[in-house]
Amino acid sequence: MTYEMACVSCGYQFYSGFDMKSPNDVLKAVDFKCKNCGERLSSSKFTVEVRKTDGSFF
Ligand SMILES: [Zn+2]
Repeated sequence: MTYEMACVSCGYQFYSGFDMKSPNDVLKAVDFKCKNCGERLSSSKFTVEVRKTDGSFF
């Protein structure tokens, strides 16, 4: 499974990885602002998507 966090306004991806991170920690790292579109972000506006990998290894 991978976790993805993206800006709700433009879809810019702040975080993508296997570790679940708190939206607040990720937002703090980008100064609560989207680097791509400049939208001010709060954790309530933040979307967290959890995606399953397709499960095939070879
Ligand atoms: Zn954005």
